[in-house]
Amino acid sequence: MSKPILATTSLAGCFGCHMSFLDIDERILELIELVEFNKSPIDDIKTFTKECDIGLIEGGCCNSENIEVLKEFRKHCKILVSVGECAIMGGLPALRNGISIKECLEEAYLNGPTVGENTAKIMPNDDELPMLLNKVYPCHEIVKIDYYLPGCPPRADLIWNALVALVTGDELQLPYEVVKFD
Ligand code: SF4
Repeated sequence: MSKPILATTSLAGCFGCHMSFLDIDERILELIELVEFNKSPIDDIKTFTKECDIGLIEGGCCNSENIEVLKEFRKHCKILVSVGECAIMGGLPALRNGISIKECLEEAYLNGPTVGENTAKIMPNDDELPMLLNKVYPCHEIVKIDYYLPGCPPRADLIWNALVALVTGDELQLPYEVVKFD
């Protein structure tokens, strides 16, 4: 019987949720018995080659590319899971939501204490760069999300338990110590 197919991506996140996923340690060997990986930074497959059963999304949407990738995941995955606070509510990147884009860019590229020599006062403006959005959006405000795994990052055991439950259809095991909300 063919295995369920899993895809993952990181949008406006720090890859900490993927690191936590890898903290399942030796259970990764059990996981590859349970699922087949498709598009993911874990296997470096960069484009969907098959329709997928489960998509894990780390990070929210801060630019036009994030929106494009998230919509692509919704199109190709039967089940989408928001993994971590950035995907669920914007997380740390959403701290900019109360500040205008103009002010953010000026702080980042012109006036901030960590700006080096930028005597030409150049702002990145290449057409190839994704456009920043007016604010950072949680994933469920862009596409339908089926499940949410809280935490920054969610514990590896939570990611593992959720994946096993989705793949096997067994009841999700949620002991208190496995769930955290920060
Ligand atoms: Fe990183 Fe936390 Fe966001 Fe995950 S939820 S991407 S660990 S900041």
